[in-house]
Amino acid sequence: MALLITCPNCGSRAYTEFWFGGELPAPPPAPGAPVDASAEFGRVWYRRNVAGLQAERWFHFAGCRRWLTVQRDTRTNAVHAGD
Ligand SMILES: [Zn+2]
Repeated sequence: MALLITCPNCGSRAYTEFWFGGELPAPPPAPGAPVDASAEFGRVWYRRNVAGLQAERWFHFAGCRRWLTVQRDTRTNAVHAGD
């Protein structure tokens, strides 16, 4: 089964029309909260590579040429949401 990504501008398309932009890092700490420099380094540079839902960025190079964020299940390649 091919991986289909739903672009908000172009509709459902094959993943071969997109470039993978990587996993999104975890959200930053709340404003004003104490910052642990080593934890921040890990949050920005290390990837979690979870088995399950993961937020990712994809670039639609063969269509509207826009970046989109999707929630992809890494176990099944099912894309659950886009924006
Ligand atoms: Zn598109």
